[in-house]
Amino acid sequence: MSEDCIFCSIVDGDIPSRTVYEDDETLAFLDANPLAPGHTLVIPKAHHERLNDLPEDLGTEVFDTLHYLVPAVEDAVGADASNVAFNNGAEAGQEVPHVHGHIIPRFEGDGGAP
Ligand code: ADP
Repeated sequence: MSEDCIFCSIVDGDIPSRTVYEDDETLAFLDANPLAPGHTLVIPKAHHERLNDLPEDLGTEVFDTLHYLVPAVEDAVGADASNVAFNNGAEAGQEVPHVHGHIIPRFEGDGGAP
């Protein structure tokens, strides 16, 4: 837990979010500024800033959640495909310094990758 981390506050229930999935190690919730319907974020509950800092077993948990959720999110919104991405570090566009994977549903004719 990091005191001024917005995603830690979501894990703790201090900031509301629209939960999509939760288990002991990971949480998934809808992005507040979605790039597409169903845009979902998957995070480890424990605070780690970047993938580089993530213990290997927790990385496996995050990937397992992504593996489960990607088809579920696509099905839920009727998407044809999805972008699954991590911005890893501020210079790469990571604005929230708590590891998170984006699931961005894509639809035929929507113009390609963001
Ligand atoms: P970027 O904003 O460039 O995508 P990140 O990869 O760090 O940077 O993504 C942070 C994501 O977190 C953004 O998509 C943003 O909309 C989302 N976000 C920020 N605050 C919240 C919140 N309270 N609830 C849900 N999503 C949030």
